[in-house]
Amino acid sequence: MPSAPARSVRRRRTPTAPELIFGNLWEFDPSPETADPKLKAQYDLLIDGRFVPARRGARFTSINPANEKALAEVALADESDVADAYAAAARAFPRWSRLPGSERGKYLFRLARLLQDRAREFAVAETLDGGKPIRESRDFDVPMAAAHFFYHAGWADKLTYAFPGARHVQPLGVVGQIIPWNFPLLMLAWKLAPALATGNTVVLKPAETTSLTALKFAEILQEAELPPGVVNIVTGAGATGAAVVAHPQAAKIAFTGSTEVGRHIMRATAGTGKRLTLELGGKAANILFDDAPLDQAIEGVINGIFFNQGHVCCAGSRLLVQEGIADEVVARLTLRLRSLRVGDPLDKNTDVGAINSGEQLARIKRLVAAGVREGATLYQPPCALPRKGFYFPPTLFTGVQQSHRIAREEVFGPVLSILTFRTVDEAIEKANNTAYGLSAGVWTDKGSRILKLSTELKAGVVWANTYNKFDPASPFGGYKESGFGREGGRHGLADYVTLS
Ligand code: NAD
Repeated sequence: MPSAPARSVRRRRTPTAPELIFGNLWEFDPSPETADPKLKAQYDLLIDGRFVPARRGARFTSINPANEKALAEVALADESDVADAYAAAARAFPRWSRLPGSERGKYLFRLARLLQDRAREFAVAETLDGGKPIRESRDFDVPMAAAHFFYHAGWADKLTYAFPGARHVQPLGVVGQIIPWNFPLLMLAWKLAPALATGNTVVLKPAETTSLTALKFAEILQEAELPPGVVNIVTGAGATGAAVVAHPQAAKIAFTGSTEVGRHIMRATAGTGKRLTLELGGKAANILFDDAPLDQAIEGVINGIFFNQGHVCCAGSRLLVQEGIADEVVARLTLRLRSLRVGDPLDKNTDVGAINSGEQLARIKRLVAAGVREGATLYQPPCALPRKGFYFPPTLFTGVQQSHRIAREEVFGPVLSILTFRTVDEAIEKANNTAYGLSAGVWTDKGSRILKLSTELKAGVVWANTYNKFDPASPFGGYKESGFGREGGRHGLADYVTLS
């Protein structure tokens, strides 16, 4: 065979392939997921293994952000309900904590399997309640939640191996856990699985806009015959969360949410002796060097910011791109944005679903307006948004300065800010020029550069030539205003035990 002519190793410039514009020109037949989410009209609190209404009988409505229709009425817990939940958890603690680890592990395995059995039902419920595309709840949220229970089930009888040198590994007691609305079921799993594996009992509060999968999980706790009081679920908004934090019985507070509320909680727990872990916001830099595999990187950038409508603490919301390829990258990204399908989250074709709440949509709009006011250039692809429900088009900003609000504040929406850099040192300096420190991404062909950046970037997670990859064995958490403590892996277990 004649040898192929020597080919230039130089990167081809802008793609020459014809533009495929899916947006409004190419109609897909709707492909709605049809599994029954088995939602009830009304949900109570889970206290001491039983569903009970709030003592004062108060309720709030959980709506579907995709169409603003009511999904269910949920009990609103106040201090007295929270006190009942703590009392039940305290009663359950002695037996649960003394149970052999292998027995606790069996319960965790059971929870994981029961969740897998009802995976489709949970995926639809999660999408209805939170607005995320069904592709994501089906392929990411629910399987990852089950994976966290499986992983921690494996640790339950091996805790002394998790902490070499420790003779005794003791649980803390009753832990109060508060979770946000962006990954409702997955955050529940991140919280419950390590706490239960290590022998703690729990009072958990889901976010007010997304309580339903936690309450459906309460049914699984009952089905698994988890001893009453080991997990108690109290629903409500900030006041309920504040009551969970303030209760004197709490040995630890584990919080995932905004930096602002994290600050309140830090003040509220100061001097009380309660252990505290905070998983807070982020403003990650996704750094793209000129030697990066560009096709792969463009997909990584898109996934990094538009996954879950950008409602992701570790979202790659600042793209730092090396100057020489900036025009090409922006051209490719704008093209790619036009192929993202925004709309009904239950449709399997949908890439970007509904914004979680009207309040969050208003916040995104405010920050985008500030971006325009401060002089950045906005790009949004042509796309028709559904008339009812909370939606925002995928958005990118070029010409962003480090001082702009969209470069400093967490938008928590589908909005990418693009900045440029020339040298490695400038990239590191710009990436670290943030109050947050949760995650970062590096795209380059050079291994040595990846190693340098992964040590010099002040971020809890640094992904290289990929983005948004998670595993229960891999600890996740932040620096600076992104909080402290880790979830996942041995590090995550350590935050639920005392060692002697
Ligand atoms: P939020 O702080 O408004 O609410 C989080 C939870 O705290 C909710 O359950 C809420 O009801 C409760 N809460 C509100 N006020 C409270 C108070 N005073 N005391 C106790 N609890 C209170 O955050 P959010 O808007 O639900 O979630 C988005 C935030 O969560 C973003 O900043 C995101 O970055 C962060 N987040 C971080 C991680 C992580 O692992 N670091 C993961 C997911 C989300």
